[in-house]
Amino acid sequence: MSMDFASDNATGARPDILRAIMAANDGAAPAYGADEWTQRAEQALAAIFEREVAAFLLATGTAANALALAALVEPWGAALCHEFAHVAVDECGAPEFFAAGAKLAGVAGAAGKITPQGLRDALDVMPRGVVKQVQPMALSLAQATECGTVYSLDELAALAKMAHDAGLGVHMDGARFANALVTLGCSPADMSWRAGVDVLSFGATKNGALACEAVVFFDRRRAENFAYRRKRGGHTLSKGRLLGAQMEAYLEGGRWLETAAEANAMGARLEAGLRALPGVRLPWSRQANQVFAILPRAAHEALGRAGARYHVWMPRALQTGERPAADEIFVRLVASFETSAESVDRFVAVAGGA
Ligand SMILES: *Cc1c(COP(=O)(O)O)cnc(C)c1O
Repeated sequence: MSMDFASDNATGARPDILRAIMAANDGAAPAYGADEWTQRAEQALAAIFEREVAAFLLATGTAANALALAALVEPWGAALCHEFAHVAVDECGAPEFFAAGAKLAGVAGAAGKITPQGLRDALDVMPRGVVKQVQPMALSLAQATECGTVYSLDELAALAKMAHDAGLGVHMDGARFANALVTLGCSPADMSWRAGVDVLSFGATKNGALACEAVVFFDRRRAENFAYRRKRGGHTLSKGRLLGAQMEAYLEGGRWLETAAEANAMGARLEAGLRALPGVRLPWSRQANQVFAILPRAAHEALGRAGARYHVWMPRALQTGERPAADEIFVRLVASFETSAESVDRFVAVAGGA
């Protein structure tokens, strides 16, 4: 039985989303996103966010984040983000490249979250109007974070208000937006523009699409030049209907929420199983579909022999007192909509020495 907890993008696309691509493939349609699937996807996004939006589909989360940040930040500006944020450590400099050299400034914070104090400290060392320094122009928050944690609505609102008061735009990296939303049980509007988010990278790939993300602007004025930015960035698909069909099918009938709920439930099962094992430590609580655990090395070796797959994670993401000892290892486990209860139970049994 497959025990693959490497990532939610190790999983393929949902068959019903693939069938939607096949259906859209039938016959001719206008190119470059002028097709009916893309229009319906844009309407569906406006409907779930309960307002008019300017939405742009593209094929990768890195492009969504990089182009969204470029829309908020001038070349002499800075975007503040968590020090371990995907935009800062997993995108090969794409945000800086697309923002024509703007800087990303990392903010520390436990369990992947920026705190108001952390943001205040970062803003304090970047005063406005000092010609020698980059000017702070955006705050980027990941929801869910790279540590699998989720900002509460109050936390989001407090950070967004502080950013707006300092003249920054607010970007949300929502590669796992659906997983975080299911955790909070609120509306998409509550977790985005009502909390102060200006631009959202709305992920679908990790949650069942083949390759589809949307950059969603809640203020149309900020989107003025985005069509050119996306084209210049090489992300305007000529057969744009293939993106439109994915996003339409993803949102249809709440499919995206159902998919995320399945992944989160398997994350919860995995967490509960590991918690019950002596010798396993969880540095922070799981909130969505990712579980971070400090395992005894013997368990890690047994899991390896049993064919389990997952990533060993960087201990620097842990507070000093929590770091793994010599006979321990820090790992990340990700559940997806395809994760089965049996594979979770088998993983826990092997980790527990069975
Ligand atoms: C996966 C992920 C992305 C998008 O990555 P791509 O591989 O470029 O699609 C963005 N942000 C976070 C937090 C992610 O986990």
